[in-house]
Amino acid sequence: MDLTDRARADALDAKDPLAGFRDRFVFADDDTIYLDGNSLGRLPRPVAEGIAGGVESWAARMVGGWHEWIELPAAVGDRLAVACLGARSGEVLVCDSTTVNIFKLAHAALDLRGGAIVTDAGNFPTDRYVLDGVARQRNRRLVVVGSVEEAVEVRDAALVCLSHVDYRSGSLLDLASVTRATDALVLWDLSHSVGALPIDLSAADLAVGCTYKYLNAGPGAPAFLYVRRELQADFRSPIQGWFGQRAQFAMGPRYDPVSGIERFLAGTPSVLGTLAVDAGLQLVAEAGIQRIAAKNAALTDLLIELFDALLTDLDFELGTPRESSQRGAHVSLRHPEAWRIARALIERAKVVPDHRPPDLVRFGVSALYVRFVEVWEAMRRLQELVVSGVHHDVSAEPRRVT
Ligand SMILES: *Cc1c(COP(=O)(O)O)cnc(C)c1O
Repeated sequence: MDLTDRARADALDAKDPLAGFRDRFVFADDDTIYLDGNSLGRLPRPVAEGIAGGVESWAARMVGGWHEWIELPAAVGDRLAVACLGARSGEVLVCDSTTVNIFKLAHAALDLRGGAIVTDAGNFPTDRYVLDGVARQRNRRLVVVGSVEEAVEVRDAALVCLSHVDYRSGSLLDLASVTRATDALVLWDLSHSVGALPIDLSAADLAVGCTYKYLNAGPGAPAFLYVRRELQADFRSPIQGWFGQRAQFAMGPRYDPVSGIERFLAGTPSVLGTLAVDAGLQLVAEAGIQRIAAKNAALTDLLIELFDALLTDLDFELGTPRESSQRGAHVSLRHPEAWRIARALIERAKVVPDHRPPDLVRFGVSALYVRFVEVWEAMRRLQELVVSGVHHDVSAEPRRVT
């Protein structure tokens, strides 16, 4: 059978143990091939039901709902710890945004350690911007390096912040060995690995991540943070909010945070968003993170084979590691016309990737709902589009969101 044969993709779908999970998602249009679940996951029916259930309990119970809702950030954090993070109960909290959680944990780490903050130049923008601000507020040096090898070699570092999976190239770092290679506290951003790959935080100090990518919890759903149990007693949130306060409703004169992970709560949590996270992570738990990771590897393998067969003569280059154990769940293709190609795929070919500057078209495969035949069809449409030159007809105007 030809590598580029549709029948091969169909055969992979026929024996896919996760194929049935696709029916748990909402599809507004069957013809659109959605390969941007690494930016915003599709809507799972259980997530819609989880939010609807929260709305009903608000209607029925009003303020009385808080007796249960108040437990949610830590309770959903515990379930996330087990299903996706290899962490222990009491180490994970679902709250705020990834950006805010980086701010909280970076400040807390600097309370404990003297020295510089280190990150890599290719890290996600919000991570770099927040760390730059924290460094200025705390009068510390921010060392921006070009590689993970350099990051762990910086002497006298207090905190090293890295992404587990790089948002552009998709390359995956070895979390345990990088954490061991430095004496600094390491803050991992798991936004591009949680729900897509197995994670083992047992050796890690600190982590954050978002829930609207591979956990499918919806736009703006709360993020999570992880603080290793042994570190928690000495860690203080720089946002001394009342949700982290001991005897919160005593409304006492002074801030006195609880002893556990909930000291990292700030203000009133998003209840509807946290219910969405709970439903999203339960779908991942039901499918099993190992099976999800195996299918993500097979989908990205297929995409790379199709790239080799169909696209190398068309000015494309592979921007992602070939070895499946070294990448996450997206593949980036480089092309000088990447922006126009991404636009043309969306507008003219009903394939949804995204564009990352300067020259990447990113294709995310989310195992719970992407089929092998969609990867085949997307690469076929991409080849056809570039051969025909249709991308020259679309507007190259910049947009606010890419
Ligand atoms: C998506 C993503 C974020 C997003 O942060 P928000 O605060 O949710 O906007 C942060 N870091 C990485 C690595 C991401 O991929």
